[in-house]
Order: sequence, then C-alpha cells, then structure tokens
Amino acid sequence: MGDIPARKMPGRRSLLLGMAGLASVALSGCTVTPGTAQEEVPPTPEALTLVDPAAAAPSRTAPAEAPTDEPYRPAPPTKQQIIAEFGSRKPQEWGLQVTGTVGKSPARDIALTLDACGGQGGTACDQQLLTTLRKLNVPATLFLNERWIKANPALTAELARDPLFELANHGFLHRPLSVSGKSAYGITGTTDIGQVYDEVMGNQAVLQDVIGHVPAFFRPGTAYYDDVAAAITRRLGVVPVNFSINGDGGATFAPSTVAAEVGKARNGDIVIAHFNKPGSGTAAGLAQALPRLLGQGATFAKLGAVLHYDLP
Ligand SMILES: [Zn+2]
Repeated sequence: MGDIPARKMPGRRSLLLGMAGLASVALSGCTVTPGTAQEEVPPTPEALTLVDPAAAAPSRTAPAEAPTDEPYRPAPPTKQQIIAEFGSRKPQEWGLQVTGTVGKSPARDIALTLDACGGQGGTACDQQLLTTLRKLNVPATLFLNERWIKANPALTAELARDPLFELANHGFLHRPLSVSGKSAYGITGTTDIGQVYDEVMGNQAVLQDVIGHVPAFFRPGTAYYDDVAAAITRRLGVVPVNFSINGDGGATFAPSTVAAEVGKARNGDIVIAHFNKPGSGTAAGLAQALPRLLGQGATFAKLGAVLHYDLP
C-alpha cells in the first residue's frame, strides 16, 4: 500500500535466529481437519528453552519500526530450481521447532504474533482483540492464510495500512510443511517439495499484491515443519518462524489461561495466539495480560524489528 513504507529488510550480515528449543507445544487454531478445513487442537503449553538473554538487543518502543538497513531482496529460486537443489535431501526432524526455524528473538522486546487461519470456521476477525492492541499501542505481526485473505480483502488492506501491524505469510492452503506428506493434528501436510514451494510462494504473491512487498516471515498451518521444508523456506527468502509461548492453544484456552500463559512472556519471546476466533478466550486473556506486562516494563515489537537474519 502506497502510504506504508516498504519494510526495510535487515541486511544479510545480521545474525541470529535463535533456534529456540521448543518442546512440544500443542497449537491449534491453526489446524484444519482434512475435508472440513476445521480448526483443531489439543492445548498443552510447556516451558521452553531459549536463547541466551545476554544476546538481547536494545529495546524498542512500540510500535517499533524495522531496522533501516539497505533492503536486500534477491529473486527467489524457481520451483524447478528448488526441486533440483533439495530433491535428494531426506528430512531428519518433524515438529514445531526444527533446525532452521526461529522460536525466539535476541531482542529485549516481546513479539506478539497472531494467526488468522481461514477455512471453515476460521475466517472471522476478533475486532475486540485488535481494539485492545490499538488502545494499548501494542504492535503485532499478523500471519494471514490465503483463505482468510480471500474472505476478508478489505480488512486485509486495512490491516496492511495500520503501522501497528505487520503482515506475514500463514500459507496458501494452511498445511503442515512437509516434503513427505507428514501430518499434524490429523491434517495431511504438503506431500513433496513442489507443494512446499506452492504453500509458501502462493501466499507470498497474494500478500505482495496487498502490501507492496513480499512478507519476510512464514509460519505454516499447524506450525509443523520438517527440517528440509524449513530450509526451503529460507532459500525462498522467508524466515520460518515459530514461537516460544503458546498463548491461546489454538484459541481454545479460557481467558485466565491465556492471561497466565502470555503473562510468562519475557525478553525475546515470540508469543503465538489467534485473531480469527472472536468469542474465544484470546481477546479477554490478552486484555488482562498485556496491561500487566506493560506495567512491569515489558516492551513489544513486530518481528521485522527484532529478527535480523542471514538468509542463504
Ligand atoms: Zn493457522
């Protein structure tokens, strides 16, 4: 959108991407049942192991803006090039936090990330939650699935214009990102490298049309990856993101549980929750947790302001 400055991508030199040692954290507002595109999930937040806080970057004030390094955006490889490059690789890991994904940032800020999964029962917008964020001036990175965008074109454009928010890629068909058809929460993932490419790049193109540049961050439906799919995502110029705090268990937690889980967020944490489930406990829980965290001196930033990276 013309009135929004294109995100300045961090230079290739920057480092980072702490790979959080995420344990198994059940997600869900992000899962879709085969055939029904239903959102799923068994919620089980767990403590996570994280990046050395000593590596923390200076704090920013919300809403933080992206670093002003020179933008660097090489053209991504074609599908054929990706298939040729990764075709012989066998995945060794499958889960929420595999080699190559990012679960924490090195910054002092907390990054609030909110998914909108689309599909049956998943195309609404939690306006109460967005109102709370605006009132508190808490920035967030919004991961939008192509199905949600298709159902909400005007709202997507409105969110793209709001400097409090940054839009990111939540996949084209909302599938777990696998090169071999692995499943998560009963949802069959992408079955091969070509489908991984389509799941990432299909929605990159859709979002580029809306925001004027390609998104820098990707999180698949269900948040599951294998390590080869995560590497492919990076090769395509997108950081495969996950989380260190499961804030709403796929929009299944009661408000008190959301408040308790989000209230654990500290330096560098990436919190996941959902803004496509009005009526869930997410908005009420965040309305409790965020003022408390702010009162404790916590600061919040969009991912683009805290994740410096070095993509291949
Ligand atoms: Zn989702």
